[in-house]
Amino acid sequence: MVEVSGVHKFFGDLHVLKGVDLTVGRGEVCVLLGPSGSGKSTLIRCINELEQISAGRLSVDGELMGLREKDGVLHRRSDKEIAQQRSKIGMVFQRFNLFPHLTALGNVMEAPRQVRGLSRSAAERLAREQLERVGLSDRADHYPAQLSGGQQQRVAIARALAMGPELMLFDEPTSALDPELVGEVLAVMKELAASGMTMIVVTHEVGFAREVADQVVFMDDGLILEAGRPGEVIDAPQHPRTQDFFGKVL
Ligand code: ATP
Ligand code: MG
Repeated sequence: MVEVSGVHKFFGDLHVLKGVDLTVGRGEVCVLLGPSGSGKSTLIRCINELEQISAGRLSVDGELMGLREKDGVLHRRSDKEIAQQRSKIGMVFQRFNLFPHLTALGNVMEAPRQVRGLSRSAAERLAREQLERVGLSDRADHYPAQLSGGQQQRVAIARALAMGPELMLFDEPTSALDPELVGEVLAVMKELAASGMTMIVVTHEVGFAREVADQVVFMDDGLILEAGRPGEVIDAPQHPRTQDFFGKVL
């Protein structure tokens, strides 16, 4: 589903991704861990084409992201094609980024209306289904300011799901939450994983990684140092940097 091979990313002179290889199969959950500044957010932003890679190949669902190969030469895709590619990928950030002037329902309806062009009634039906999926049917008419952080993040997940993504990317979805609200968001993510969604999740929640991940990936300084089953990478890391990291967080 996701194929990353030899990917480099520079910001000016700053070399942030230094040759990343990663494969995530359909229906798999990949948890990405690593110290601050190691390039985790940059990698998932590249997968979603929020950033352009500097070198290498990155494809989702068999299509090169942002690029098209023609007669052996790579061409930049049109904005329309890129928007089309990105519409298959849902992303949830640390900060929920809900529209403050729209209700929970309005937030979830917005993209299906604007991007997919659904009628008001079809978008509303879809949005109510997605709110139910994240356990928020009874909060549909609340504005973000009237919701807890955990509820807001669940609305953000429902909003991403309303576009019918084939891949969901999460960038530290629980890091901005009070500890007592983390569980409800992780529970929704667990259910999503169980439903067969392909997911790449940046998180420091090692318990979630152990329980839900098919693959745990440890990144450090722009490189993947270790990848494997949770029992391998978390509980029996081979690389000294990985051992050091889990020694500190566990
Ligand atoms: P954290 O755990 O703190 O979120 P991270 O692993 O997600 O860290 P990134 O956000 O990917 O790390 O950042 C990797 C490096 O790239 C950092 O040195 C960061 O300062 C730099 N960087 C990220 N985005 C940009 C940007 N748009 N322009 C310049 N430098 C950037
Ligand atoms: Mg980050």
